[in-house]
Order: sequence, then C-alpha cells, then structure tokens
Amino acid sequence: MPRPILATIHVPALSHNLETVARALGRGAGASRPSIWAVIKANAYGHGIDQAVEGFAQAEGLAMLDLDEAVRCRERGWSGPLLLLEGFFEPADIEVLDHYRIGTTIHCDEQLEMLEAGQVRHALDAFVKLDTGMHRLGFRPQAYRAAYQRALDLRDGGVLGTVGKMTHFARADDDPATTAAQLRVFAAATEGLPGPVSVCNSAATLTEGLAAGVPGEQWVRPGICLYGGSPFDERSAGSMGLRPAMTLSSRLIGAHTVPAGEGVGYGHRFVAERPTRVGVVACGYADGYPRHAPTGTPITVEGVRTRVLGRVSMDMLVADLDPVPQARVGSPVVLWGEGGPSVDEVARPCGTIGYELLCAVAPRVPRRVQGAGIAPLSDEGP
Ligand SMILES: *Cc1c(COP(=O)(O)O)cnc(C)c1O
Repeated sequence: MPRPILATIHVPALSHNLETVARALGRGAGASRPSIWAVIKANAYGHGIDQAVEGFAQAEGLAMLDLDEAVRCRERGWSGPLLLLEGFFEPADIEVLDHYRIGTTIHCDEQLEMLEAGQVRHALDAFVKLDTGMHRLGFRPQAYRAAYQRALDLRDGGVLGTVGKMTHFARADDDPATTAAQLRVFAAATEGLPGPVSVCNSAATLTEGLAAGVPGEQWVRPGICLYGGSPFDERSAGSMGLRPAMTLSSRLIGAHTVPAGEGVGYGHRFVAERPTRVGVVACGYADGYPRHAPTGTPITVEGVRTRVLGRVSMDMLVADLDPVPQARVGSPVVLWGEGGPSVDEVARPCGTIGYELLCAVAPRVPRRVQGAGIAPLSDEGP
C-alpha cells in the first residue's frame, strides 16, 4: 500500500468559485459584467491543467505563463481565448502562438521587435502591459503610447489581432490608495487608446465596485480565489462563498503518549508539560507541507480540529491528540481543504500565503480528481 497521503482536486469547487466570482462581478455592474480570464499558471496553482480546463469551462478565457500549459489547454479541447501573462520569450515561440492561436502579453521593446521581424498565418491577440507602479513587467508610462502605436501598426500589418491595455496591481489586497493611484496612472497613460482593458487580479476583482469603475470592455484576471484561497489577510475565502478546490489529506501511522518533560521530533521544539497523546501523520515537507509550520498550526484529525506539535520532518509530522481521544492508527487527517483548516489558515502561522502551499504540493503526492463530469453546485457557498 502506498503512503496514505492524498491530494484531492474538487472540479465542482473550481466551477462553483468561478460562478461565485462571476456573480460578484455581475452585481451592480450594469448590463454586461467583465469577461473573466481564469488564471491557471503554475499547473493551475497546483490543481492540474486538465482539471482547470474542465472546471473553468464557463470562463471566457484562460491565462497562464507557460507555453506548454497553453498548448495543453488546446489538446484538452479548449477552443476559447488563451493569454500568456508574460508573453513569449524568443522568436521561435511566435510560431507556436500562431499554430495554437495563443494570445500574448507584450511588456517590452524586445517582444515588439520579435513580432516586427516575425510572420504569422493568423493575427495574434495581444495586451500591451503598462507599469503603473508594480515595477515588475510593463512599459513605463512615458514609453507606453509609442509602444501601443507599434502594436497598432502590427495589427494593421496583420500580425496582431485585437490589441488591448493591461496593468497589474501591487497592493489590491491591502491598500486601496495605492490601487487608486495605479488606476490614475493607467487612465492617463491609456486615454483615448482603443481596445479592451485588463487590470484586476483576485483581490481587485473581489473589491466591491473596483471593476465596475473601470471604463471600457474589461477582462478581469482572478487566480487564487478560483481555487478557494483568499487574496486578503482579513477576509476568509469561506466568508466570500468560495470553496477549497484542493484537499490535502493523510492518516495517522502512529499514536502514543509522550511523558511529561519529554520533547517531540527534531530539535525537541515541543516539550510536553504533562503526559500528551500525540499522533504521527504521514505528511512532511517532502510532500510540500511547510517545514516552517510552528507548534499550533491547525490540523484536523477524525474531523476534530487540533494542532501540529514540534518540527515538521521530511515525511511525517506530529499532531496533538488531546482533543481527539478516539484517534488511533488509521484515523483520517486533513492538512487543509474540505473538512479541515483552510489553506490560508495553515499558511498564516508559517509566514506565507495559501498560493505557495497549493503550488508546492510535491509530485510524490498522489492525486485524485473528484467530481469530474458532475455538474457544479450552484447554491451560495458553505
Ligand atoms: C498571477 C497573476 C494574476 C492572478 O493573481 P491572483 O492574485 O492569484 O488573483 C493576475 N494577473 C497576472 C499578471 C498574474 O501574474
């Protein structure tokens, strides 16, 4: 028998979360809500491209970073728009974009030069990225109009199809003033330029009224919320009607009582003050569970919430069985997801974010896809 660890991917939860986001955008946004690029980079935040293609079948488009992932979407039958969020990297990529009808971000002069030197059979759709203050990718505001004009010239020459405007927020999760300043830079730099607009990540998409205030034909780019994670420190995913799309589960492979005064695990980071019954869980950092998880990190055993004790080892961790006297070898454990703590609750004491944990589940963890082919639930969250 393999180790009992398992990552279950809930396809209906992906669909439910997409629907929840679409509904939130539709509210008060006038006649038509923005279109949604479901962001499926990094193997769909660890959930698998195939599952994302199925779960996000109702999205208007899919956005990712890797050419291979975009091609995989086509191979799985996705016929809608695809967008590479970092664009392409070398001239040879343009042929692949052309062949599979993959749209691209254009964020630098080098990409424009490659397009100007390239040839395509079908015009590529593109978003020209503006750096409004994230200071990562994108043209600086003073260089934007010239870059956009070159994109429009490429459109007139048949290399590009639809050309749109795009930026990315640095603090949509925690600082409305910075986002408002970025929006002002965006409005000024793009004023009068034709084409659709794409500015909102999950945090901006879920901020009441933000997307509705962006003029023009709009595409939002939610990622984490579609997987049931929250982009906000202060708002839980559950409170926004989102459901976990991944459950990391395991079982106890040992249970015993640690005598008072004895330490547990490497470094004896937890020392029992009184005799303490503990369970050994088949899950460690080699499975992608964070080694930084301190004593107290939430975990569920037999459906009862308890805590991690001491240091996480490569293949095992230890849970406090004090609140779960019935637990024994074989008892089910949920590390995060359905029936356990949210991935955000686990990430917080580890000093990281749910995104990182979802992406980091190791290849050695077996995956089970749940609910493939089952219609998504359409009621309002848990
Ligand atoms: C990752 C990414 C997103 C989605 O971000 P979330 O915070 O997961 O919603 C949107 N746009 C770009 C350019 C990205 O790289």
